[in-house]
Amino acid sequence: MQDFSKFSEIKYERPNFKQVRKDILDSVKIMKKAKTYEEFKKGYLHAENAMQEMASMVTISSIRNTIDMNDKFYDEEEKYLNRAGATVALASLKLLDTVLSSSFKDDINKEYGPYLLKQLENNKKIASKKIIFLSIKEGSLSQKYSKLVANAKTTFMNEECNFYGLLKHMQSTNREERKEAFFAFSKLYESIASELDNIYTELVNVRCKTAKRLKFDSYIDYIYLRRGRYDYTKKDVAAFRESVRKYIVPLCQKLFDMQKEDLGIDKLHFYDEDLTFKDGNAKPEGTWQELVKKASLMYSELSSETKEFFDFMTEHELFDLETRPGKHMGGYCTFIPKYKAPFIFSNFNGTSADVDVLTHEAGHAFQFYLGSRNIDNEMLQSSTSEIDEIHSMTMEHFTYPFMDKFFKENKNKYLYHHLTNAVKVIPYLVSVDEFQHKVFENPKMSASERRTTWKEIEKTYMPWRDYDNDNFFENGAFWMQKQHIFLYPFYYVDYALAQSCAFQLFLRGIDNFDVAWTDYVNLCKAGGTKGYFDLLAVARLESPFEEKTIKDIASKIEKVIDGFRAKVKE
Ligand code: ZN
Repeated sequence: MQDFSKFSEIKYERPNFKQVRKDILDSVKIMKKAKTYEEFKKGYLHAENAMQEMASMVTISSIRNTIDMNDKFYDEEEKYLNRAGATVALASLKLLDTVLSSSFKDDINKEYGPYLLKQLENNKKIASKKIIFLSIKEGSLSQKYSKLVANAKTTFMNEECNFYGLLKHMQSTNREERKEAFFAFSKLYESIASELDNIYTELVNVRCKTAKRLKFDSYIDYIYLRRGRYDYTKKDVAAFRESVRKYIVPLCQKLFDMQKEDLGIDKLHFYDEDLTFKDGNAKPEGTWQELVKKASLMYSELSSETKEFFDFMTEHELFDLETRPGKHMGGYCTFIPKYKAPFIFSNFNGTSADVDVLTHEAGHAFQFYLGSRNIDNEMLQSSTSEIDEIHSMTMEHFTYPFMDKFFKENKNKYLYHHLTNAVKVIPYLVSVDEFQHKVFENPKMSASERRTTWKEIEKTYMPWRDYDNDNFFENGAFWMQKQHIFLYPFYYVDYALAQSCAFQLFLRGIDNFDVAWTDYVNLCKAGGTKGYFDLLAVARLESPFEEKTIKDIASKIEKVIDGFRAKVKE
């Protein structure tokens, strides 16, 4: 691991792709000639080193690009990396072939476990020089989308606002303000809707072409493999959505009904959904720097593992948290391999979501930190996202006891809001999933058919949804505001699968925190060394694809929610 002081001081150097290609091809030569496993491995590590250096620079450029989308240098750099980086793919393919056709496969299995080769075999099915230009095209469409959304601005209450700025007003205790902010939000999306429709049509096309060129029957089959879903199929996912409809949707309906009562309103409109309490949701106190300080204290009290991790994050300033115009939307956590350094990105807006970042994204970062220090092979340090989101979502629940640091006397209000929201969002998560399945089952769908489809899905999973006669969203355009549909196809259901597991760890922790914590740390340390069900077993988790799992969770979580509610009402 390379030493460094702060993220902002890391020097960016454009990767020398020619050299990386040469390094990889040199490795291939060494590996082909190798007489012993040691020689073979040495050859492989030479390539891995070169790729690690390259990946680190690519990640740094990407972080700095999202920090300021208008920074010309990194904007150009992203374009260049997207174009030139793809050419390394050819050499990596040769490296992949060399590993898969080598006579040292038994040694590899012995050292790393059978999951590594399984993963490489599957990677081979989805990698080909035939799709290089298509992935470049997909990358540039994604960039076009990001820029369009990042630069969309409106004026609200005499203040220049992007989408994130409006979200804050949509949580206001003043219903008129919420309503106006929501209509402004809708208008802002409507103003870029035709561009979004076009970008998405092109994205669907390019994605279908990619699958076809690799001889998959559909993009769905391809993306399941690319997302590392080797252990289950789209049928299992459909069964999971059905369990959600059966057990989670009624629970949500109950929560929304209670919310309506709490808010003292006749009809719960979309812009009321986020407001849990009439006098306002709990808000964290302090600037972003102060919140980080509180998080520091929290993680030092939670466990020795989290203390060490968070000290590393603050010492090296691995955050960019405040919102600014021109900054990419949303939040994420990424990892710079060369420095074994996670990085957390967010757009703080003064709501409790800011604290969620310091627990959710920090949960990811914690896993990156542990995984990279416990697992030698980089490919195995992290898992697929329906596992990785367990790391983050469980941290959100495990930090409950410390929430007085951020919310003081409003701690219980926050806990009730957070837990009910974790449930209330699940139907939306599976809606986004079903939408994408339908789009790719019928990729010729027109923009207006896509809206009809979304509208129907909403009725099934979110029967409470009411846009207060806002035509644009009423007619099925709400899917457009979900960046995952554009940038991370088929990712969204992973949050729902992971939440089902995070709830299990949370419930276990209520009975015995130390046991649940150990299971959790074991899961984090196991990274991506195993398949999905084997990793669930590491943390003793029941499969979310079993109807019984979801049924149990719904009834147990309902009881915990009742308890939280009683505390708020005390
Ligand atoms: Zn996450």
